[in-house]
Amino acid sequence: MRGATVTTIQCPSCHQNLPGWVNQCQFCGASLSGVQRPAAVVQQRKAQGRAWEEYVYYILAAIWLLQGLYQIAQGIGWVPSVWYAIGGGSFIGIWGAIHAFIGIGLLTEATWAQFIVKILSWLTLGVSVINIPWLLMEKDPLVPALFLAFNMGVAILQLYVIHKVGDA
Ligand SMILES: [Zn+2]
Repeated sequence: MRGATVTTIQCPSCHQNLPGWVNQCQFCGASLSGVQRPAAVVQQRKAQGRAWEEYVYYILAAIWLLQGLYQIAQGIGWVPSVWYAIGGGSFIGIWGAIHAFIGIGLLTEATWAQFIVKILSWLTLGVSVINIPWLLMEKDPLVPALFLAFNMGVAILQLYVIHKVGDA
């Protein structure tokens, strides 16, 4: 019974004492989302929030950054790429810089970066859904379907972890 008095909250509707972590009053059913939590519970929640979502978030952010750096290297010609060969070096380089910038933004948990990635993820999902009928008309739809599913999976994962981490 460690710190029982510190970790309770009071229902704003029926004034019963409740455990600090519940989201709904067990007596009257009132929502407790607006109730201020005791510091101990907030601390606990933060520790719990540092679950797999946060690790995935930082891994995805690192991938954004690395992808950007790789594209910059392609743009400069350090890494052989078709872009440099066809004279699109500056294009892929700038694209890479944007990518890397977003990656740094994500790593520092900047709201603008999370916002941009959210929009891009929704766009990816939208475009993927539009592509499904075309995919079904393909003669051999397995590989494109896997590619599509992978893209959609990454987009959903990004939206989910940003939602989780961004709320903190
Ligand atoms: Zn209540």
